[in-house]
Amino acid sequence: MEKRIIPFLIDNLFDEIENSFAEHKRITDDILMSLYGIFDKVLNTALELIESNAVTIMHIKNCYTKTDQFIFQVTGNSQTSYILFYRINYCQCKFYQEKVLYSNSYPACKHYLAANLAHIWNKYRKFEIDFDVYKELIKNIMIKT
Ligand SMILES: [Zn+2]
Repeated sequence: MEKRIIPFLIDNLFDEIENSFAEHKRITDDILMSLYGIFDKVLNTALELIESNAVTIMHIKNCYTKTDQFIFQVTGNSQTSYILFYRINYCQCKFYQEKVLYSNSYPACKHYLAANLAHIWNKYRKFEIDFDVYKELIKNIMIKT
């Protein structure tokens, strides 16, 4: 499969998963097969993260926009936390830098996949953060990157 096509496939697949989950109220075998076809072994590790409640959605209070703004925090096995954005395929983890960005051998890391699947499947913890805290988190990402 052409690697350039994969980002479009991922976005379409997330739409498909969202529709399927709304209709069937469960994760169907077809969806799991499609996910496995694209993400391969990353899927298993992402599912483990979801099962261990590693995904948190942080709603941003006092944001300038009227719409509900949120970011994901995914805590990996080593207790390192990563901030991710809804459907934006970017992560600060080593796997993303090495296997997704540089060698292009995987389409995404487990944190990105876990965050977006947990969001669709409602399997996440949630809390609110103030806009100032949000700005600090974003600043830290930019400094580290
Ligand atoms: Zn990652």
